[in-house]
Amino acid sequence: MSLPRRNIHLRCTYCGYRTVYERPLASCPECGETIIEAEYDLQSLKELNWVEQIRARPAGLWRYRELLPLHDEANIVSMGEGGTPLLHARKLGMMLDLKHLYIKDERQGPTGSFKDRQASVAISVLRELGIDEMVVASTGNVAIAYAAYAARADIKLWTFVTSMVPGDKMREVAIYGAEVIKVTGTYEETKAVAARFARSRNLYIDKGIKSIAAVESMTTLAYEIAEQLAAAPGLPPGPGTPWRAPDWYVQGVSGGMGPIGVAKGFRELIRLGLVDKVPALAGIQSEGCAPMVHAFQAGQSVATPVTTPKTLIATLATGDPGRAYQLLWEQVQQHGGYMADASDQEAFAATRVLARMEGISVEPATAVTFAGLFKMARVGLFKPDDVIVVNCSGHTFPVEKQILGEEWARQVDVSGAGGQVSLPEEGLLSALDHINTSVRKIAIIEDTPDAARLMMRILQANGGYEVNVAHDGAAGIELVRRWRPDLVITDLMMPDVDGFQVIETLKGDEDFRDIPIIVVTAKELTPHERDRLNGRITSLLQKGSGMNEELLQSIVESLQ
Ligand SMILES: *Cc1c(COP(=O)(O)O)cnc(C)c1O
Ligand SMILES: [Zn+2]
Repeated sequence: MSLPRRNIHLRCTYCGYRTVYERPLASCPECGETIIEAEYDLQSLKELNWVEQIRARPAGLWRYRELLPLHDEANIVSMGEGGTPLLHARKLGMMLDLKHLYIKDERQGPTGSFKDRQASVAISVLRELGIDEMVVASTGNVAIAYAAYAARADIKLWTFVTSMVPGDKMREVAIYGAEVIKVTGTYEETKAVAARFARSRNLYIDKGIKSIAAVESMTTLAYEIAEQLAAAPGLPPGPGTPWRAPDWYVQGVSGGMGPIGVAKGFRELIRLGLVDKVPALAGIQSEGCAPMVHAFQAGQSVATPVTTPKTLIATLATGDPGRAYQLLWEQVQQHGGYMADASDQEAFAATRVLARMEGISVEPATAVTFAGLFKMARVGLFKPDDVIVVNCSGHTFPVEKQILGEEWARQVDVSGAGGQVSLPEEGLLSALDHINTSVRKIAIIEDTPDAARLMMRILQANGGYEVNVAHDGAAGIELVRRWRPDLVITDLMMPDVDGFQVIETLKGDEDFRDIPIIVVTAKELTPHERDRLNGRITSLLQKGSGMNEELLQSIVESLQ
């Protein structure tokens, strides 16, 4: 069943100028502002019981079509974008001491990033306007998503990308038939070149966050998250609204379109009576291009542009966020939030942790988000019961070589076999013998299965370690004697043979006294207990959040 023809207005985000929506406005006729929002008749949707009406519709972005700026459904260009899963990140949550950590898996869109939402709405609107040739500037993913949707909509697309964009991404744009113009310069310079080209050919240019469709497409993230959280098992009781807002929305930001759209979506849901609040917004930027983070930390409502971004992560290299930062700043003042940065190296490390712990492989821009999340958890910005949703904004695409470093593959050289089809068994065996197996062996002695599993995960996620677990002190001593690990990590409080006895036994044995020991404990030690450990162990760690890095650091140090 279709709802009656909608009554949509446009509203200037600066001066509030309001007009009936017929076609998108490039800027406000009153004040010149370029970020303009669509306004829907939420009161009548509420009266028509919109929530009940959409219940039977398939998942996906167009499920919420009454809240998107398109007049005629016949113009929809869709490939099943939106409707992405909201995954509970149990192990990552355990590591960060966050019970209700969720990943909104936007990698699962048709071209692998959340720009598919933007492309579907923007290209649909442009088709409705009868546009058949257009220009877009991009840090990568917009070009890919627009290229795919433009191909379906028979729109000729000119993409302008900075030369920082990885070659594989550029080729992905080209495969859809779009023109690729590589600009040696920053994203801001690339946008200027694209604008000049569009003017000279009299072509429509998509202005990203400054086009109505972009921000509107991002509101659907809010709708989906709220609808999915309402049905998520295992959450503490909510506010009693039909849908549910998380406490935090976390995203890697470049231009800021995502969080601005998400905040608008939640404001609309409040007016529809579906949720009770807008979540706190966390924006994470790449350290080498973090104008928003700098302004936020200085308490400023206007960001100073970064003119020469120093990051490998092209997706996040918007140096001048302009008005978008001001809008975000206002939202953060009103609803709470935070801005953090992370280095490229921290992002690459986070990529590995996320992939090995949760089975999720992400592109560097998304890894920045997770690296920022880890930092925020470490400094105690979240409460253990907070419901946190992280936008997992893009798939690893491609696996850029700096993520894995040099040692990701092992080489077997069989060139001595002289190109024979059947390789002599001996040749193969001796080649295999030369595979470097200098993996460090770590024994974990820990009677709480969850804690043991968590440590094992942390170690495996960081690679290069072979791990064995014993669940009590006696079995631990037995494991060390039999397996001769390079390092022992032990708990103190265990029934029968406790950690103190394990340490005393190993240190009293010629053969094993040189193996370093790390103690991980939840116990406050008495002075007498400290004496018993003194001089015998390499380090003492407290169980709980932040354990990941501390643990790894002690391990790396004690294995040197
Ligand atoms: C575009 C993009 C971002 C940044 O989005 P904004 O909300 O526009 O700042 C983050 N991650 C990925 C993968 C992106 O494609
Ligand atoms: Zn205005």
